[in-house]
Amino acid sequence: MPVELSIVIPVYNEEDVLPLLADRLRPVAEGLDAAYEVITVDDGSTDLSPVVLQRLRRDWPQLRVVRLRANAGHQAAISAGLATARGDYVVTLDADLQDPPEVIAPMLTAAREQGVDVVYGVRGDRSTDTAFKRLSARAFYRVIRTLSGTHAQVDAGDYRLMSRATVDAINALPEQHRVLRFVVPALGFPSASVTYRRDERAAGTSKYPLAKMIRLSLDSVTGFSTAPLRFATWLGLLGGVAAFGLLLYALVAMALGHTLPGWTSTVVAVAGVGAVQLLCVGILGEYVGRMYTHLQARPTYFIAYDSLTGTGPGAVSG
Ligand code: UDP
Ligand code: MG
Repeated sequence: MPVELSIVIPVYNEEDVLPLLADRLRPVAEGLDAAYEVITVDDGSTDLSPVVLQRLRRDWPQLRVVRLRANAGHQAAISAGLATARGDYVVTLDADLQDPPEVIAPMLTAAREQGVDVVYGVRGDRSTDTAFKRLSARAFYRVIRTLSGTHAQVDAGDYRLMSRATVDAINALPEQHRVLRFVVPALGFPSASVTYRRDERAAGTSKYPLAKMIRLSLDSVTGFSTAPLRFATWLGLLGGVAAFGLLLYALVAMALGHTLPGWTSTVVAVAGVGAVQLLCVGILGEYVGRMYTHLQARPTYFIAYDSLTGTGPGAVSG
């Protein structure tokens, strides 16, 4: 029977939350008027998540387990799910029940009735996030929007429903390290949105430490904008003008017979210029690094096992 809806869920060390997720998701999925599959993408979990998933699968035939060989990261795990999904529509949501599964029904209805390709889940309020997360998220969306000029939905994470056409378009993108929440709006498919309240994580702890958040932000910026490179150019120009001014000042001071004050100004100038240079090299490096990984064209994930096909180790995709 053809699958109408695929529900893709990235899972990384979520042993505590998986049974709760199954309890909540299953009635929702069964209540939809659509043939569905749930694809849990086990992103190289090192806890008991694989065992829990296999146990859940025993009496839930629609549950599929796709295991990645190593931890590839949230976005790559979703990509793996999109690549293996069979549905006419695909929903992606987090495993930790922060994205309430009940919202899938209105998403599907919106897609079918309004004939749109993408339905974004938009966070109505962020009262369950920490103040730091709220603040950083606000800055994040604002910066990306300004830099990229894409009309990314503010406060839309990775809870969204996409049509087969959208998923095929994403799968065909050669881009590595894509940040889907910005890639999808950039594809320009007709869209709608459904507002929901983001709950607290049902169990376990966040798998998004600060380092991963920074990585995601850098990928978002470099993936959508070359503005930082231009910023480096401007900074260089500005530095040049300042240096020229300083030179004039030094010449005039010398002509007037004033000796220049000691090393303070020199040290400050050298340190300042050094910092600016390092910053600019760093910015360049971000882009060069991106080009490098893109040229290597290594898959961003490896599928070790798919319960649908029973493929064991050796299966490669990406
Ligand atoms: N996740 C993943 N791989 C990772 C990190 C996270 O598949 O390397 C999954 C995780 O299991 C969850 C989702 O991505 O389903 C979002 O992660 P989390 O809830 O920890 O992020 P937060 O909500 O704290 O931003
Ligand atoms: Mg979460």
